[in-house]
Amino acid sequence: MRRVFAYEVLKCSKCGGPMRLIATIHDRETIRTILTAAGLPADPPPKASARQLSQDDFDFDDTPPDEDDNWEAA
Ligand SMILES: [Zn+2]
Repeated sequence: MRRVFAYEVLKCSKCGGPMRLIATIHDRETIRTILTAAGLPADPPPKASARQLSQDDFDFDDTPPDEDDNWEAA
């Protein structure tokens, strides 16, 4: 989090003091209960469908080169 978002998770956002990890919660229902009690969303946001990318038309010059064109190095 610190490296990617420049956010220090173990630093109190209110007073700037150090915080320490006291537990990790892995049980899905416990996480849901805690988040719901805190008024936070317990479900991930819905996945957006992949958007269709349009293929740009390239403006190539299809005319054949003149025979007078000299591509040889001088
Ligand atoms: Zn604090």
